[in-house]
Amino acid sequence: MDVTFWGTRGSIAKAGPTTVRYGGNTSCVSVRTDAGTLLVLDCGTGIHELGQVLVHAAESTGDPVDGHLLIGHTHWDHIQGLPFFAPLFDERNAWHVYGPRGLDSSIDHTLAGQMQYTYFPVQLLDFRASIEYHDLVEGQFQIDDVTITTRYLHHPALTLGFRIEADGATVVYSTDHEPSAAALTDTGALKGFDREDALHVGFVRDADLLIHDAQYLEEEYPAKVGWGHSTVEYAVDVAVAADVRRLALFHHDPTRTDDAVDALVERARVRADAVGFTGAVFAATEGMTVSLRSSAPALAARPIETAIRTPALADLPRAVAIAVTDADVEAALLEAASAEGFESVTCRDLDAVIAGVREQRTPIVVLEAEPGRSLDELAADARAVLEHAPEGVTIAYVTTTTPPANEIRPEITDWLVWPASQSHLRTKLRAWYLRRACRWQAASLPANEAERLAALWDLGILDTEPEERFDRYTEVACTTFDVPVALVTLVDAERQWFKSRHGLDVTETHRDASMCAHAILVDDVFVVTDALRDDRFAENPYVAREPRLRFYAGVPLSTSGGQCVGTLCIMDRRPRVLNEPQLERLRDLGRMVEAELAAIDDDSPVDQ
Ligand SMILES: [Zn+2]
Ligand SMILES: [Zn+2]
Repeated sequence: MDVTFWGTRGSIAKAGPTTVRYGGNTSCVSVRTDAGTLLVLDCGTGIHELGQVLVHAAESTGDPVDGHLLIGHTHWDHIQGLPFFAPLFDERNAWHVYGPRGLDSSIDHTLAGQMQYTYFPVQLLDFRASIEYHDLVEGQFQIDDVTITTRYLHHPALTLGFRIEADGATVVYSTDHEPSAAALTDTGALKGFDREDALHVGFVRDADLLIHDAQYLEEEYPAKVGWGHSTVEYAVDVAVAADVRRLALFHHDPTRTDDAVDALVERARVRADAVGFTGAVFAATEGMTVSLRSSAPALAARPIETAIRTPALADLPRAVAIAVTDADVEAALLEAASAEGFESVTCRDLDAVIAGVREQRTPIVVLEAEPGRSLDELAADARAVLEHAPEGVTIAYVTTTTPPANEIRPEITDWLVWPASQSHLRTKLRAWYLRRACRWQAASLPANEAERLAALWDLGILDTEPEERFDRYTEVACTTFDVPVALVTLVDAERQWFKSRHGLDVTETHRDASMCAHAILVDDVFVVTDALRDDRFAENPYVAREPRLRFYAGVPLSTSGGQCVGTLCIMDRRPRVLNEPQLERLRDLGRMVEAELAAIDDDSPVDQ
């Protein structure tokens, strides 16, 4: 793939004699794969020239200009070029626009905001191209030959970084990201990585090209804490730790002249050389193309598309438990929570917090790291809350001092270093909440859903009485696998209905909560070894609450016409692993249930 920089500047466009070499336009980068898929990362002012180039090239061929626009966040410097992107005004073109999902707003509403009549004469509806908008959360998704992983960055607005894999190569776009506060000393020097930084390093690991925010220098940083940008030094340290092949310093400060960028690159190279870094370090330059190719075969497996799913926000209480003694901190947290639509539960002490999470299922807890308390003591408190909380609760500590780096305690999700701005607090709450909500994902619909449903309805089996010929298989499954629950499920349009159930009282559940809806998307047995450790199911109501299922294995059931209509599945309240003979036994039982379905098929009247 070819990666081209169209805008490299941060914050505001800066045209003029001092920015000629590195460019004055704000963030825009294109990625073109060998198969021709076009991704555009952000639409700062640099997108204008990209649009001109694309339209001009299409004039000679007559081909449409189609593509995918990925917006990391909607600060001005990343969206201002959108109304000036020529391909969006041609009805022959088709574009997909992706951006981070808000709590109560979608990406198209946010973009429409900047194009309201008061601010601009062109409205979102004036785009003539066919445009589809997609809201993203953390996870993975696929665009044609490209696999994309998203991750929330550390910025005072909900911001996604993009890890893009195609043609056997990887480019990571990680801009508008600040080191997690735990990592830096008061002078701006890096102490090490905390949990969030370590996860960030994991996100960019082994990239062939890392495009990283590098707006500030170490000595400038203390005055810019909370502004949401990295230092050059941090960008280098992340690149070194993640073993990337090329580091492109990006989001140049508008005050930085070309000569100043030269000096910044020199400084970055010295720092990289000092630790024996063998990768290339350079400043992103407007007009520059980096070609990334690998002889390694591209990954064949499609990812489970978690990033484009709708998180189960309605099922998760939008509430935060706050246990801090400092009145200013508490007031700021209450204000941020209220602005984001959270109900706040203020707690005097740890016992009150524990009661809060137990009774109200509060998904987020903010505690106070009182000065003088050791990390072990803080972690012990966090553990006490976790014991009573729903799985996966977010526990953050507010601290007025620099929290420890290089000592990661899994019980502590995050640190909030005080003072913090309202936008910072609100973004943190959003990211924690969305991450939690995304721990339960409804299955996507199969490509042949209409035909599949037609085949299911043709069977005429839905809402019929229980029958011994099906019940015997669920009974045998429970005995064979020593599990409390076995079901013959049929996945209907909105629900899954149980033709036979052993060990479960309900007769049907909503399709969104159905593991079988996932199972019918695969050809073979679908196994969830431990639902609590699986981000697709950890918050599923049947996992998080009664009957507290942990293990699932379902074999898809097809009609004689080949349509997958349901499953024979087994479940347990403890994690389980199935060995190959057990999997084969489950497949066998599945084939027997399929034979019963085929028998219904044969009995049913021929279609008129
Ligand atoms: Zn920016
Ligand atoms: Zn920004």
